[in-house]
Amino acid sequence: MLKIIIILIAVFIVIYLLFFKSKSRAVDGAELMVECGKCGIFVSEKEALMKEGKYFCRECFRRKK
Ligand SMILES: [Zn+2]
Repeated sequence: MLKIIIILIAVFIVIYLLFFKSKSRAVDGAELMVECGKCGIFVSEKEALMKEGKYFCRECFRRKK
């Protein structure tokens, strides 16, 4: 009986880890788009530059500086 419980817990952990991994992988794969605080253009979060809690596209960030 104890073995069955241990196996069930192990299976649950594996399923949980797989779900968690695929979830985080999906977040990594799909590029999050953020709106530029100045011109309103959508840029990927990786390309966006943050200043004072707002995202800016490279163009606006350069102009602002
Ligand atoms: Zn912009």
